[in-house]
Amino acid sequence: MTHQKNIYWTLVVILCVPNIFLFFTEDISLLTRVPFILVPLSIYMMMVVCRRPGWSMILFFVMMVLGAFQLVLLYLFGRSIIASDMFLNLFTTNVGEAEELLGKLLPAIVGVVVLYSFAIAVSVQSIYLKEKLTRSFRLKMMKISSGLIVVSIPFMIAGKTVVQDDIFPINIFYNMGFAYHCHIKSNEYQKTSAGFSFGALSEVSDSIPEVYVLVVGETARADHFSLFGYQRKTTPFLDTAKGVVPFADALTQTNATHKSVPIILSGASASDFENIYCQKSILSAFSQSGFYTVFISNQKPNGSFTEDYFCQADKYIDVTTEASTYDKNILPHLKKILSQGHKKLFVVVHTYGSHFNYSQRYPKENAYYKPDDVEVVSYREKDKLINAFDNTIRYTDEFLGQIISTLDSIGVSSAMFYCTDHGEDLIDDSRHRFLHASPVPTYYQLHIPYLWWFSSQYKEHFPEKVQNVISHKNMPVSTANVFHTMCGVANIKTQYADTHSDISSDAFKVQKRYFLNDHNQKVALDSLGLKKLDIQMIKSRGITYP
Ligand SMILES: [Zn+2]
Repeated sequence: MTHQKNIYWTLVVILCVPNIFLFFTEDISLLTRVPFILVPLSIYMMMVVCRRPGWSMILFFVMMVLGAFQLVLLYLFGRSIIASDMFLNLFTTNVGEAEELLGKLLPAIVGVVVLYSFAIAVSVQSIYLKEKLTRSFRLKMMKISSGLIVVSIPFMIAGKTVVQDDIFPINIFYNMGFAYHCHIKSNEYQKTSAGFSFGALSEVSDSIPEVYVLVVGETARADHFSLFGYQRKTTPFLDTAKGVVPFADALTQTNATHKSVPIILSGASASDFENIYCQKSILSAFSQSGFYTVFISNQKPNGSFTEDYFCQADKYIDVTTEASTYDKNILPHLKKILSQGHKKLFVVVHTYGSHFNYSQRYPKENAYYKPDDVEVVSYREKDKLINAFDNTIRYTDEFLGQIISTLDSIGVSSAMFYCTDHGEDLIDDSRHRFLHASPVPTYYQLHIPYLWWFSSQYKEHFPEKVQNVISHKNMPVSTANVFHTMCGVANIKTQYADTHSDISSDAFKVQKRYFLNDHNQKVALDSLGLKKLDIQMIKSRGITYP
């Protein structure tokens, strides 16, 4: 390119590329579509502030980085602007996970590298060209640019456009600020929760030994468990195990690990998420009630609340330091703790479950469904992807089976609860969506496996609690019930445990289910922006909606 004008327009168009894609992928009202294109176009046209537009591109460098991030995410999710949770995920995703994911996103990464390398090359050329943009051209562009803003205003008013939510890239900067604000608040958690006390106590005599295990899974989907009706026999142990009570109508309250796991492990929920910053976790409630508490984690510390919760346990065991990343590495530690003869024991187990890259979650000899060697995530490789994912579920079935068998063998009053933090998209329908943590979830990210298991000794001691759990098993539940039910099952009394949310209580009441959105606000299921395809799936699976 030898003319600055051509370079100028080329750079403006390149900067507009994310907006052009988003124009087609986002649910934007007709009136907002006008400012959606005109406002960013006007901002990018301001590149005429420099007589050589290549210099202006240096000012817009951050826009190229965000544009690349946005385009890769569109490749991943098929919709949605970069959410604040995605910035927080950058802080809370370990390097290994990121490396596994980056390899699979190669086509999108190559695309953005080519696009923005071209923009950089053209900018450099602009800087070295003798020619400059003329004064008259620059003035004309500035006038047009201002005119575009003026034209946009009535459309923004009529379309009730919320600039910070609706206009890219302004919404991205807002989300970055929100993410930073949350990050600072969670960094101060130790201070803000220091004075908190559950005032909890156990209502069970010290003479009855008790063991409770809370297993927090990762990324597993209920509809891939044969226990919940999947045609493949992925959960042969759970399907036939005595004492298992499955909940088929269970949803997560959020699809981001760094928020979902803390909801499972604390009294906070989508309805009162702010409590997360000032309350302690379930480990603290059990500890206060006389339990020896242990947190065994197969996920690397990631700076989220979960990491703070490690410190609230009497003992924290990090199994990520072992040679492999398989969940079964947890079992020897669990067995050792169980053999130590603690009268009252509460163990939280945080697994790696079915997190991408699936084939890394189980040893080769556990590859029950083959082939499972996914080269690139694409529709063509879908069968392999599903095989690998189903292998993780089968491995999880064995893992849970071994926990249950171990608890059974010690012959004391014990119970185990298992659910995952969220589900996953697996290129399920015409949208070809993949992974989780998208700002608007899908059915596949919401519907989670959720089950209780009770030992025969527990049933003898607390038959009415087991009966209540069984009688509520077809009711709609969510991750918001876990804290209250775990306290209920273990007979722990605290003003923070609500019997209406406790599935093991006869006072349990079906509650409206909410999703915690990207700005930490509760949203009812029918206000989430779920697509028709998701609502059809929700209804076909017999899930209560809304
Ligand atoms: Zn997760």
